Amino acid sequence: MNAAQLPDITIPSDLLPADGRFGSGPSRVRPAQMDALLAANPGIIGTSHRQAPVKDVVGRVRRGLAELFSPPEGYEVVLGNGGSTAFWDIAALGLVRRRSQHLVLGEFSSKFAVETAAAPHLEDPEVISAQPGTLPAPVASADVDVYAWPHNETSTGVMAPVQRVAGAGADQLVLVDATSGAGGIAVDMGQVDGYYFAPQKSFASDGGLWISLMSPAALERASELAAATDRWIPAFLSLQTAIDNSRKDQTLNTPAVATLLLMAEQIDWMLEQGGLAWADARTRSTSGMLHAWAERREEITPFVADPAARSQVVTTLDVDERIDATAVTATLRRHGVVDIEPYRKLGRNQLRIATFPAVPESDVAALIACLDHVLDALG
Ligand SMILES: *Cc1c(COP(=O)(O)O)cnc(C)c1O
Repeated sequence: MNAAQLPDITIPSDLLPADGRFGSGPSRVRPAQMDALLAANPGIIGTSHRQAPVKDVVGRVRRGLAELFSPPEGYEVVLGNGGSTAFWDIAALGLVRRRSQHLVLGEFSSKFAVETAAAPHLEDPEVISAQPGTLPAPVASADVDVYAWPHNETSTGVMAPVQRVAGAGADQLVLVDATSGAGGIAVDMGQVDGYYFAPQKSFASDGGLWISLMSPAALERASELAAATDRWIPAFLSLQTAIDNSRKDQTLNTPAVATLLLMAEQIDWMLEQGGLAWADARTRSTSGMLHAWAERREEITPFVADPAARSQVVTTLDVDERIDATAVTATLRRHGVVDIEPYRKLGRNQLRIATFPAVPESDVAALIACLDHVLDALG
């Protein structure tokens, strides 16, 4: 919609949220994180990543995540450069032995399946697909060595349980893409062997890193496949190299120190607020406010029909076709309330609103007031 077609609606400034960022990633960074970043500069930023000050920041992130997720004994926090997208290739090389099973329920979950299908050293994956907005279930299969699905499919707002597959074998790993779920949704880490994510969603930092909590079985698989002769593992994509570096609070190549600092601040903040249980309660509350609002407005319908599959961190709401959702999102954007457009490739007349832990109830209440104002004006 171009500016000429935009409806002339002014949202009273007293309705606006204190922070208008509701994006599903990159997501809002709290001002206190930015202040901490400035306070740390130039003492840490701009110094060697092989020396104690930067290694301490990596250590802070690794220890903080271990405290936040309290995994069983023997799990390790591993990290490297490249974001979650890099981790799909790293896993296709370093965690899938021969064949994987994927739940495909949207754009992000499809991307890992595309990688394993294209990998010349792997057999074609088993793919269990579902219509966008719905949730498929994994099925025990003797023919796979990895089960993969997302904790939260960010493109559709569907949330999946993180639990071992009934009837699965002991040597079959569960890999969960928790890029948008991690830190915002409670999880029992004993149910998963590789719980991987990036810093720019619940951890309110910048993109570019991947982090994975890895079980002893996953660490053992990485070590086994590092010696495999059926595949070339580029150094940048070597999981074993990342594990070895992480154990020393380092990364293979230079990391973005600012990203690590912002993330460390957010983890400490979450722990101060009450940890993962607190974050889970907050995102239930804020996403619940949006669903209650959808129930009140006849023009708004949750995209995810099954209430149990509705995400706590990314709420997708269809807008009745009589109203152009882009008129709503563009009007809000003009007022500094941004990034509630739907996932582009989904192509729906929709609002997509993230309620990561950094988003307080007060801002969601204000967003709802703004949406009411715009919908009433359009209606
Ligand atoms: C954002 C997102 C990704 C991509 O993360 P990058 O760090 O940009 O590679 C992958 N999976 C899910 C579920 C996401 O939400």
